[in-house]
Amino acid sequence: MDTQDARQQLEQMIREIDSTSEVLLAEGAGESSEISHVDQHPGDTAGEITDADNQNALLENNADRKAQIVAALERIEDGSYGRCVACGQDIPAARLEVRPEAARCMADQEKAEAEGLA
Ligand SMILES: [Zn+2]
Repeated sequence: MDTQDARQQLEQMIREIDSTSEVLLAEGAGESSEISHVDQHPGDTAGEITDADNQNALLENNADRKAQIVAALERIEDGSYGRCVACGQDIPAARLEVRPEAARCMADQEKAEAEGLA
C-alpha cells in the first residue's frame, strides 16, 4: 500500500468536505431553529425547515466522514494504515482504493454496522 497516495487522497477528501460544509453553512445549515423560524419569507416556511433539516443532516454526515478520514491520516502517521482496526488483517487494496478512509476489513465493517458502531 502506497501511503503517500492514500494521504494525498485523504487530504483532498477533507478539502472537499470542508468546502461542502462551508457552502451548507452559508446556506443557513447549522443555525438554531429559533433563527430559521423568524418569519422573513411568509408562505415559504415549511420548505425552508425541510431544507435546513436536510442541510443539517448533510453537515452531520460530513463531520462523521471527516472524523473517519482524520483517523485514517493518524493511522498513516503511526504506521497502522491499511490494517483492520478490529482484527489486524490487511485491508484489501481494492477496498482501500474505493474507501481510503476504511478502518476495517469488510467482515468487521459489516459486524460493526450490525452492532451500530459504524
Ligand atoms: Zn477485520
